Amino acid sequence: MSSSWTRRDFLLKSGAALAAAQAIDHFDPCCAMAADASTADKELFELKPVADGIYAAIAAPRYKVNSNAAVILTNDGVVVVDSHSKPSAAFALYREIQSVTKQPIKRIINTHFHWDHWQGNQVYAEAFPGLEIITSERTRENLTRPDAGSGGVAYIEKQLQLVPKEIEKLGNDLASATDPAQRARLEANLRQAEAYLEELRQMKPALPTRTFDQTVELNVGDRVIQILLLGRGHTDGDVFIHLPKEKVVATGDALIDWMPFMNDGFPEDWVRTLDALEKFDFAQIIPGHGGVMPKQHLTFFRGYLTDLVAAVKRADAEGASLDEMKRTLPDLLAGKYERGMSKHPLGQYRDRIGLNIEMTYRKVIGKT
Ligand SMILES: [Zn+2]
Ligand SMILES: [Zn+2]
Repeated sequence: MSSSWTRRDFLLKSGAALAAAQAIDHFDPCCAMAADASTADKELFELKPVADGIYAAIAAPRYKVNSNAAVILTNDGVVVVDSHSKPSAAFALYREIQSVTKQPIKRIINTHFHWDHWQGNQVYAEAFPGLEIITSERTRENLTRPDAGSGGVAYIEKQLQLVPKEIEKLGNDLASATDPAQRARLEANLRQAEAYLEELRQMKPALPTRTFDQTVELNVGDRVIQILLLGRGHTDGDVFIHLPKEKVVATGDALIDWMPFMNDGFPEDWVRTLDALEKFDFAQIIPGHGGVMPKQHLTFFRGYLTDLVAAVKRADAEGASLDEMKRTLPDLLAGKYERGMSKHPLGQYRDRIGLNIEMTYRKVIGKT
């Protein structure tokens, strides 16, 4: 038996392996794939028109997930909302944008500070000197804080320590896998993780250059673009991008077509923030993840948050522990939410409900 097995046995006994697994979970629960889940190796995006000159760049499933982007053509340059998790993905979208317009990209908007929404900024900053990178004041602060959560400059360093461990685990899993289909998936994920690590090593983060602390309306060429700051939700710095004439809103992860990621979120504020968003006149949602959705999706998504908070509060009042809640609440909420929250290979109901319950418990009940 090799020394690594001995070490692993020791770690398991000491509980350190559990702590390491939780560290990796914390590192990436927003977006990690299960190690043997199927991921696309080729196409990164599908550029879908949602209105005249407005596109949703819908990200394909990848081991290291990319966010969607919104692309807004104007007669004063292109505006891109969110820049994905890595420069190569931003570059792939940039090339696709060039196939629909020769206008320069003059503005990027980051909806929040999470790694998968801003780590591609540098591609646009390098290609277009004078590029404006727009976000909320709080999101800019989060990008430079050492302890903000799942994103920002400090988080790049954290990933540089953790991704090699993921690669090691994928390699070990591959070595012991015998099923050809599973081997193919693991090989694809290993390739993607290795390429991602290389990009992390080369990363030169480009930070926002223009920030707002309240809602503003910008006239960009022939477009009216509202940057909405409606309160805390998925993070404490979320912005929504509303195009009032075209009736489109880009929401980042505050409203997605998967289960929400709540680790850096504020469950009760989030419901109120979505109430405020609902008052605006829009027909289509370009979410941070998943497909383009009609406005009614807001009701469904907010309903989940509302019911989750209520269920956790009720269970707590009845004396249930967190473990008991994790056992009983998933089935309780499944009838209403499991199907609608499990349309895509990522972020499915059963993958995230346990962590959502835990986060709601910690943040709303205030027990850890
Ligand atoms: Zn995201
Ligand atoms: Zn996010």
